[in-house]
Amino acid sequence: MTTEEMTYEEQAFDGQLCQSAEKPLTGGTLYLVATPIGNLEDMTLRGIRVLRDADLIAAEDTRRTAGLLNHLGIKTPLTSYFQHNEKIKGAFIIEKLKEGAAVALVSDAGTPAISDPGEELVRLCAEKNIPVVPVPGATAAISALISSGLPTGRFSFEGFLSVNKKSRRDHLLEIQHNPHTMIFYEAPHKLRRTLRDLRDFLGDRKIVLAREITKIHEEMIRTTLSGAIALYEKQEPKGEYVLVLEGAQVAEEEFNDLNNLSVLEHINHYTAMGLDVKAAQKAVAADRGISKREVYAAALLEKEEK
Ligand code: SAM
Repeated sequence: MTTEEMTYEEQAFDGQLCQSAEKPLTGGTLYLVATPIGNLEDMTLRGIRVLRDADLIAAEDTRRTAGLLNHLGIKTPLTSYFQHNEKIKGAFIIEKLKEGAAVALVSDAGTPAISDPGEELVRLCAEKNIPVVPVPGATAAISALISSGLPTGRFSFEGFLSVNKKSRRDHLLEIQHNPHTMIFYEAPHKLRRTLRDLRDFLGDRKIVLAREITKIHEEMIRTTLSGAIALYEKQEPKGEYVLVLEGAQVAEEEFNDLNNLSVLEHINHYTAMGLDVKAAQKAVAADRGISKREVYAAALLEKEEK
């Protein structure tokens, strides 16, 4: 019998689905557990089991996670792991993992390591050959993208725009010609400025503001950057937002023109627009569909040949 011919229960019984459904946690492993971004029903069954069976839960905000654990009736010990203690706490958690503990990492909401603490701890685990197991669930970025109505085939996650003027400008210039759908996170009090900057740097285009996803006041506002700016002149932005922005409609000739340049000329095109060399190399790599290392190597070769 092929997998296609089997019922869900038969596949599960056969071990093809839910292989780990009742498997005990493995000691010395870091589990990255996604938690709900608003609706508690989005906590997965596996996530609950991992939180219940772990030796230790490392949480961005222990008070907030304690609320979730209370709701779930889970009594696993908690420790904090957040941006400003990640060096000290990272070393402590690695020690626990080396001693054989199964550690679950959670952020305040959604998926750890996505605009949340975790990236550094996972990097350390990878460096030390400590197994890392994802326990997937809610992520605001993907929830917004899939309901936006904008192309999902290729997209880039841009996270929060920096508040530092130069980094913000470099970022905006770097994505000016990105033809793929882009996803941003933003806090309500910074939304107006971000919408204005996006329009000024990238031009007017479609945007979907995914607000309060999975919460009571969930809303998908499908508009343009100018439309969104006008909307928030009349009302105060409220709640949590993901911005899903249409990619650049690059005219084919313009795109071909850029790719007909030599790599060095292509880099110069961006530095003339105000990007620093690193950001320009990144933009060239994105335009040409090659890695930054390849851009660097090609530029070096061109320089040597000159
Ligand atoms: N790790 C999280 C995830 O997986 O989505 C993201 C954490 S990041 C610190 C918080 C940002 O995510 C918010 O400022 C907002 O842009 C977005 N966000 C989180 N929950 C959301 C929700 N329910 N609705 C809309 N945006 C949300």
